[in-house]
Amino acid sequence: MKGFAMLGLNKVGWIEKEKPAVGPMDALLRPLAISPCTSDVHTVYEGALGDRHNLILGHEGVGEVVEVGNLVKDFKPGDKVIIPAITPDWEAVESQNGFSQHSNGMLNGWKFSNAKDGVFADFIHVNEADGNIAILPPEITIEEGAMLSDMVPTGFHGADLAEVAFGETVLVIGIGPVGLMAVAGANHRGAARIIAVGSREICAKAAKGYGATDIISYKNGDIATQVKDLTKGKGVDKVIIAGGTVDTFEEAVNVVRPGGIVSNINYLGSGDYIKIPRVAWGLGMGHIRVVGGLMPGGRKNMEYLSNLMKYKKLDVNPLLTHRFKGFENIEKGLLLMKDKPKDLIKPVITI
Ligand code: NDP
Ligand code: ZN
Repeated sequence: MKGFAMLGLNKVGWIEKEKPAVGPMDALLRPLAISPCTSDVHTVYEGALGDRHNLILGHEGVGEVVEVGNLVKDFKPGDKVIIPAITPDWEAVESQNGFSQHSNGMLNGWKFSNAKDGVFADFIHVNEADGNIAILPPEITIEEGAMLSDMVPTGFHGADLAEVAFGETVLVIGIGPVGLMAVAGANHRGAARIIAVGSREICAKAAKGYGATDIISYKNGDIATQVKDLTKGKGVDKVIIAGGTVDTFEEAVNVVRPGGIVSNINYLGSGDYIKIPRVAWGLGMGHIRVVGGLMPGGRKNMEYLSNLMKYKKLDVNPLLTHRFKGFENIEKGLLLMKDKPKDLIKPVITI
């Protein structure tokens, strides 16, 4: 089969590989819609996972089942399914402990384009199919469905980790597709005021559509100062970080109230340490929690989040600014995610 791969640092291209073997609990899919992610950019152009060679990229998509192992109960060839970016080993102790993202090792629930070949290929191997894929409801298009792999669950995970509650004021730093879904997640969980941080007009407009009440730009100065101005010095209950760098934590802790939560879903592709300001952290006694998490994958999460789209509580179409047809457009899509032109939120490619 052919696949679009990271050949080495800063190098991508098409390669040939053996079609994956299907174990008794596995499924083999062919892609119907796929989407490149900023995480692919961190991997290829920042070397965030190290210098990988001939690793097929991609972890977002919708596929059609072509083959299943003899122990797979609920899926059959021809089914259209959502492919979660994270496909844990469900028998692992970490999964039983509630952190399936780290089944059998830190971040090891993240298999596609990390622990094994990704979805930008003629064939996609899914481990533990019954636990990891979900039927795409007929009300959802394949392009919309591709946003369920990663953008929706990651953004919503940011809101979950922040434990957003009714009436709260929430700051969302970064409003690319992930941050926009964090805005939507915070809104669904009942935030009253959502202050969103980004510089591109198209993202600001989408953020308002998803429930942001205020927009500020990190290019207009320190985020914490701008947020303090907007909140009469009070700051915010929760912060969700979906963009920026290792330095963004300093601004987040500077503006969150005592007892607040800073929830990070940003993939920190570079830098060795994050900085937590001592005084703003209450000299170590401010009850400010800083947490960060990989999105939860698996079938249940996909089924529940897809319900939000099926019943029209969530529309991902504002994210889909660039639509392509044909495998050959993958590189174009990846470069768009790297360069982030003014009119881009997220590309999707139908095969
Ligand atoms: P984008 O690059 O599209 O969005 C990043 C956002 O951050 C933009 O709004 C950008 O503003 C803003 N930004 C850039 N620099 C700064 C800064 N210095 N301070 C504040 N804001 C800034 O990324 P995505 O939305 O696609 O992804 C966001 C992150 O989430 C990525 O790191 C990605 O790898 C990660 N991720 C994490 C996952 C998880 O499971 N935890 C899963 C999937 C992705 P603008 O462009 O408007 O100037
Ligand atoms: Zn991703």
